Amino acid sequence: METSPGEDCCVKVAVHIRPLIGDEKLQGCKDCVSVVHGKPQVQIGTHSFTFDHVYGSTASPSTAMYQECVAPLVDGLFQGYNATVLAYGQTGSGKTYTMGTGFKDGFQTGLIPHVMNSLFNKIETSKNQAEFQLHVSFIEIHKEEVQDLLDSVSVNKSETANGHNGKVNIPGKPPIQIRESSNGVITLAGSTERSVRTLKEMADCLEQGSLSRATGSTNMNNQSSRSHAIFTITMEQMRKSGSNDGNSNECMTEEYLCAKLHLVDLAGSERAKRTGSDGLRFKEGVHINRGLLALGNVISALGDEKKRKEGVHVPYRDSKLTRLLQDSLGGNSRTVMIACISPADINAEETLNTLKYANRAR
Ligand code: ADP
Ligand code: MG
Repeated sequence: METSPGEDCCVKVAVHIRPLIGDEKLQGCKDCVSVVHGKPQVQIGTHSFTFDHVYGSTASPSTAMYQECVAPLVDGLFQGYNATVLAYGQTGSGKTYTMGTGFKDGFQTGLIPHVMNSLFNKIETSKNQAEFQLHVSFIEIHKEEVQDLLDSVSVNKSETANGHNGKVNIPGKPPIQIRESSNGVITLAGSTERSVRTLKEMADCLEQGSLSRATGSTNMNNQSSRSHAIFTITMEQMRKSGSNDGNSNECMTEEYLCAKLHLVDLAGSERAKRTGSDGLRFKEGVHINRGLLALGNVISALGDEKKRKEGVHVPYRDSKLTRLLQDSLGGNSRTVMIACISPADINAEETLNTLKYANRAR
């Protein structure tokens, strides 16, 4: 039986295990994570966890991951359902690679390029039934502040190459604010919304924002590992339906639909290092924990059917991240969390934390 989004459990969780990388091999790390054959089950030490999907470290899994986890969300966009894809995990676990929000290796193969391709293919085949308008925004939440990754003034490439951080605050520009309309729609006031008509234009937005984020990070105490990057595609659709028998009295009705898909490369989930960190860094850690903590609480409240039926309070307002995603988590929207892990034994503790967090989301 077909279920519409929202009828089945609204949060799906997948695990993506990357291969051992150069550094880990050099250090002589051992693989400490195993997948139970034929099952979406991961084992580490004496712990065992079952998820909706597990993608191993061998072949490039992004095509299967896209088909199984994300394609249904893209389909849902065409029916007017909002959706969110979240990449969770410690720094270095493969979040950026998985999403394709980096501008290095993952860019061609990550989930976002897959989303963009299939979105434009679907639009091409549906254009007789509807007119489409697409908008893209790309923002970062750092220390509970929203920053615009598509603001061309703050992303002057020649300037950033000379060592500036690329994220200057423009004098007189008001901070970006999260607003909620009376019908519950969340918008970002003051951020760039690019209207895009082609795949190339959308890919350019991803490239520009990714470069801005990457450049900023090398100069800002690795800000990118401490911030959430959110690439949002908003699709407006004017559907034409009814009979068109060729005469001028045709009876055509139009239906307007608007939905958005958030693709989120979350901040590193590792615990803030208290020792040896200055006050500033500690503050960042506190804020990042706030976003990830709130997200964990929101998702676990949504995933708990009993709690949902009892109408238990979902704590969206506890962080900017959950506030921004409020209309795209729960309700009629679909959410996929991809927990990214390293198989190396030196990361075993953080890997276990990630699996526990992801398990709680189920
Ligand atoms: P994060 O964004 O979680 O900090 P990255 O995506 O930057 O992690 O990945 C860390 C490193 O691991 C990068 O050098 C990346 O190229 C590599 N990597 C991550 N996932 C994979 C994968 N599935 N296959 C091969 N290399 C990967
Ligand atoms: Mg990253």
